[in-house]
Amino acid sequence: MSAPADGTERLRFRDPERAKRLAAALAAIVDDALLARGSERLAIMHVCGSHEQAISKFGLRSLVPERLDVIMGPGCPVCVTDMPEIDEAVALADAGITVATYGDMYRVRGSGRSLADAHAEGAPVEVVYSVSQAVDLARTSTGEVVFFACGFETTAVTTAAALLAGVPENFSVLSAHKYVLPAMEVVAGLPDSRIAAFLAAGHAATITGSAIFESFAQRHGIPVVVAGFEPLDVLAALVKAAEAIRDGDARVFNMFPRCVTREGNLPAQECLWQVFELESGGWRGIAEVPAGNIRLREEWRSCDARYRFASTGSPVKASFEPAGCICGTIMIGRASPVDCSLFKTKCTPQDPVGACMVSSEGTCRIWHEYGGLPVLQAAR
Ligand code: SF4
Repeated sequence: MSAPADGTERLRFRDPERAKRLAAALAAIVDDALLARGSERLAIMHVCGSHEQAISKFGLRSLVPERLDVIMGPGCPVCVTDMPEIDEAVALADAGITVATYGDMYRVRGSGRSLADAHAEGAPVEVVYSVSQAVDLARTSTGEVVFFACGFETTAVTTAAALLAGVPENFSVLSAHKYVLPAMEVVAGLPDSRIAAFLAAGHAATITGSAIFESFAQRHGIPVVVAGFEPLDVLAALVKAAEAIRDGDARVFNMFPRCVTREGNLPAQECLWQVFELESGGWRGIAEVPAGNIRLREEWRSCDARYRFASTGSPVKASFEPAGCICGTIMIGRASPVDCSLFKTKCTPQDPVGACMVSSEGTCRIWHEYGGLPVLQAAR
């Protein structure tokens, strides 16, 4: 059945009265969950910039009980792109090879400069909106074009699809794609982790399916709730997560069934894993994440910029944050942007200090735009 043309379908998920009813249910369930656990506070982590945008933009934290912390984890792919990966892209551009990448990635610094800095000094860098635009650029260019590919598995599917569709010989990929689940493993496994439940990103689960979280939930004893992105999607997912915490029910719950199935999108998964495989590697601000990097398979080395231009590299082996920046601590859920003394003073979207202030999916950038605990906006 198609959605009504008047937009009422969309507004159904933004209804303030329903939001208030869900908030009341959440408050009661959180009280019960705290009693059942004998805890003072509960923490639920989501791992998606789009969830943080919905939470902050619609002021959902103002509907959440005071003793429930809703925390954003490592859910911004640009923020977790490792410094050495950015350095690799900058080195290619400095060598005169055209590097095409997404707008947010363009502005994030590696250990020294960003692609924007290199561009300002005359290096060939292009901002693109999609991988297909980068492929088109290669088709109309006589020189080499490297697509600096970042993003989680959802975005990696588009890169894989472009390669499978066929690319010109002068096109290659420098993959900085990341796989979210291994980073959830790292956060859940941290000593003294206080995360009692995770919300999983509905768009990624549309591809991967909800089943990929089942063994994670079981091993860590932490429920995972797959959530959509409208305000009521997020609130309903928080209610389900709080219920599961209260009941000690460490299973996976799909609260976004209008898009997500248990198996996911099998053709998209096939496309993804035909081209890519998982490798261990650094996530900026987090750590070495086992199987957290999505890299081109050996069969695709002819399109892999790391092999085509073997001489490039980074002067650093791992990320370090600029002085005063606490992005890494924020991304593992142990601080929030307002804990950073540079937030909104020396660090702004116009003049960002850390990666979390650059990307529209970064916690600091989102909180700068909407405030940390904004009031509920009336749905229109
Ligand atoms: Fe880093 Fe800026 Fe965020 Fe502070 S406000 S943690 S400096 S990105």
